Amino acid sequence: MQVFDPQTIPVPAGHFIGGRLVTDAGRIPVRRPSDNRVHAELPLADAATVDAAVQDAWRALRTSDWARRAPRERARVLRRWADLIEADVRGLAPLEAVCSTRPVRDAGAGDVPFTAEGLRFFAEYADKLGGDVAATRPDHLGMVVAEPYGVVGAITPWNFPLVMVSWKVGAALAAGNAVVLKPSELTPFSAVRLAELAIEAGVPPGMFNVVQGDGQTTGDALTRHPLVAKMTFTGSTRTGASIMAACAVHGPKPVTLELGGKSAQLVFDDAPDLDRLAGIIAGAITGNAGQVCVAGSRLIVQRGVAEALVERIVARFAALRPGATWDDATTLAPIISAGQASRILDIVERSRQTGAELRCGGGLFDGGPGGAYFQPTLISGVAADNAAVQEEIFGPVLTVQTFGDEEEGLELAGHANYGLAAGVHTADIGRALRAMRGISAGTVWINRYGRSADFVIPTGGYHQSGIGKDLGRQAVEANLRFKSVLIDFSEPR
Ligand code: NAD
Repeated sequence: MQVFDPQTIPVPAGHFIGGRLVTDAGRIPVRRPSDNRVHAELPLADAATVDAAVQDAWRALRTSDWARRAPRERARVLRRWADLIEADVRGLAPLEAVCSTRPVRDAGAGDVPFTAEGLRFFAEYADKLGGDVAATRPDHLGMVVAEPYGVVGAITPWNFPLVMVSWKVGAALAAGNAVVLKPSELTPFSAVRLAELAIEAGVPPGMFNVVQGDGQTTGDALTRHPLVAKMTFTGSTRTGASIMAACAVHGPKPVTLELGGKSAQLVFDDAPDLDRLAGIIAGAITGNAGQVCVAGSRLIVQRGVAEALVERIVARFAALRPGATWDDATTLAPIISAGQASRILDIVERSRQTGAELRCGGGLFDGGPGGAYFQPTLISGVAADNAAVQEEIFGPVLTVQTFGDEEEGLELAGHANYGLAAGVHTADIGRALRAMRGISAGTVWINRYGRSADFVIPTGGYHQSGIGKDLGRQAVEANLRFKSVLIDFSEPR
């Protein structure tokens, strides 16, 4: 059933600076992935507009009392913001769904409450990371005082627009910074609604500004800006590397990078309940149509259970129903763009040409409302150097590799470039813990897969999957710098 009519969803197609929507000539067509129609035109912030947003944030830091305000007051405002977000679910969920790949049902039941709860989590840290008293000689007092950076620049991707924004902005504001955010130009609208609600909650104008535009113009101008003291980025490894290089040249300034992945699901033949496990593994590669940084895209399975598990996963794939994000029967999301769909096709094709066997899927669904819907695809018989094993696909494509003993399984679970996450499935706790130690990744899930609402567990990658963490205490600490203070109170001689 159609939950909303996409034609009737108004979108705030502007920047958000100084507490208000700033509209400008539309320069970037924003399409709906569900039917590939242009929904709105987005303005493009050039260097001057970015400068205005950053200067405004800088002014807000000095003239509003946010950073000096009692931390518990900051926490109260952030919690109020979270409450307003939750109360606005009927507005926010369609706004999120209309130009993204997030089905409205998932956005309403998952992304919106997840966004709100993430902000509450960060609010709780507002008065808990003041610094340390250092162990110095007894007639001295040494302190390490936590202070915000000032203006933090944030750049986010399109795959979970609301949630990604809340992780960046929540941590930065809780630590006392101002934030200038550039959301993905593909999914730019829900961030503006968040900023409006922030004002309503009592975040001072200018503390959270949004500039719209592409990476080359707007993102680059934000990264280079001399008043931006720290950058935080989520997106592809290639873009992250170029932002890091810009931070080195136009600073140097610190940067948190949450990047791509090629995460393994390592299944031993004693893994409990194959039916449930097939559901977990299918879900981890078809959720958001595989357009998830931690998508479990490589199944590494012990030979004894390989065929039984693969059959069950293929059956789960077959039960998925592609559809528009405004249809509540949709269980398989559209691909973000036609260009991304042809990239997926290209990798699958290259994989086949080098000997892989296609067990199901492999192409786009026919028909539908006009967007690109990729069939859940399972590829077996792949060598470790196969394109589908090596490259981040960002689509519903699962490769299967089999192994004999634990050592071989662990060897296959590693990846030459990425180290974002991994799943380990076994009934043997010793084996699970050996695998946890042996896998070089920022997160290892055992007998489950995927992030939970336990925001206290940080997320972030090893190797080319990133530097630093979102979520957890670590995310707030990454938005703080530490001033060393030493006081001499010895008796005058
Ligand atoms: P992307 O790198 O193409 O774009 C991300 C953002 O960077 C966008 O806002 C874009 O406009 C901006 N950008 C592009 N070039 C820029 C430049 N030169 N300077 C400044 N900004 C620039 O990524 P995407 O396609 O939007 O997102 C998909 C990628 O994000 C995948 O690789 C995925 O794994 C990754 N991701 C990682 C995590 C994580 O937590 N590790 C979470 C979500 C997505």
